[in-house]
Amino acid sequence: LSDKLDKALHVLKGHGSITEVNVAETLKEVRRALLDADVNFKTAKEFTNTVKEKALGQNVLTTLQPGQLMVKLVKDELTELMGGETAGINLSGTPTVILMSGLQGSGKTTFSGKLANYLKTKKTKKPLLVACDIYRPAAINQLHVVGDQIGVEVYSEPENKNPVQIAQNAIAHAKQNGFNVVIVDTAGRLAIDEAMMTEIANVHKAINPHETLFVVDAMTGQDAVNTAKTFNERLNFDGVVLTKLDGDTRGGAAISIKSVVDKPIKFIGTGEKMDAIDVFHPARMADRILGMGDVVSLVERAQEQFDEEEARKLQKKIAKNQFGFDDFLSQIQQVKKMGSMKDLVGMIPGAGKALKDVDIDDDAFKGIEAIIHSMTPTERTQPSVINGSRKKRIAKGSGTSVQQVNQLLKQFDQMSKMMKMMQGGGGRKMMQAMGK
Ligand code: GDP
Ligand code: MG
Repeated sequence: LSDKLDKALHVLKGHGSITEVNVAETLKEVRRALLDADVNFKTAKEFTNTVKEKALGQNVLTTLQPGQLMVKLVKDELTELMGGETAGINLSGTPTVILMSGLQGSGKTTFSGKLANYLKTKKTKKPLLVACDIYRPAAINQLHVVGDQIGVEVYSEPENKNPVQIAQNAIAHAKQNGFNVVIVDTAGRLAIDEAMMTEIANVHKAINPHETLFVVDAMTGQDAVNTAKTFNERLNFDGVVLTKLDGDTRGGAAISIKSVVDKPIKFIGTGEKMDAIDVFHPARMADRILGMGDVVSLVERAQEQFDEEEARKLQKKIAKNQFGFDDFLSQIQQVKKMGSMKDLVGMIPGAGKALKDVDIDDDAFKGIEAIIHSMTPTERTQPSVINGSRKKRIAKGSGTSVQQVNQLLKQFDQMSKMMKMMQGGGGRKMMQAMGK
């Protein structure tokens, strides 16, 4: 029974609202979610502070569904943090020159192929792939395999050990042969070293690309941030490509990188196949990082705490016979948020069983709400003042009948009595009441 009582008290709650305490509590959970998603601590902290100010500044306190508003605030802010809008790539120039940069294994060669395929099919471009990874013969072959797969020509000079020359020759080749996009794939090392940085900086300087993309493995977490910083200092790149988001990584690197280098994330890689490429959408990434389900439930958890407090207040009201139609109305609204009338009835001790087979119309709420709305404040707090002429007035105002008003008053009276008994903890008294 105590379980059911808990449930009932859960129903008997007024409008939720967010207090400073549970904003803090909720944001603690949000911060945890961000840290779990590999967002660095400083960024996560700044983020939650911003959201906190906004939550307390806005009228979160008075809204009907503060939990949802919190979720929205967090999501919007996170989206904003990742650039808000989707950033396109610069396709100007004939040909457009695109340079790939990043560590070995980050996914440059794979992404070069994906991008060529994407531009070819989505933007009806004629791309040329260029193999500037001259250190491993396998790297050149790899790009040729990719090119064959997607039907895109690959420019390479296996004997030439000068990537600057190869890139320049490739651009000349593109101009002569009607290619309007040149995608230059480069060599990376496993870790940042000066030789690699100098080489890519030289290529960059020589070909002056329209678009320099930094490719980074989303699974590398915090390391991704440092790598991004170093590459950005040397190349001042235009955008980031976040690869390997098909794994179970939450993608918090997206936030950290964006906040450290302030460059947009333009594409994401979601698999090894050539079509596993997506334009980066900040809002979708926000969902992913937060693991939407988690956040919704954590906000709910924070809400529950609040509801307990609300329930205690309500208990006091009931005890003092101060339970009125306004409280009733807010319960109805609460229940409507929670589910159907059937669910509500199911939570009232005893009633669920009795009314099991009765078909309950959820529209019944509408009439009840209309009636309560037509009552004066006094009538709501002291229903006993509602006499015959008041009933007529209420019925007229709510578009119902006096009979319906009577019915509600009766129901309300019974409910108040029942609650009073529950309140007294008199299990026996309640059983008697329900037996009647
Ligand atoms: P590079 O050294 O930067 O050129 O990296 P590669 O393009 O050779 O990619 C390294 C490895 O990561 C390869 O095994 C790729 O198949 C794999 N890879 C690249 N992008 C993705 C991706 O988005 N998802 C997954 N699961 N694997 C990827
Ligand atoms: Mg490669």
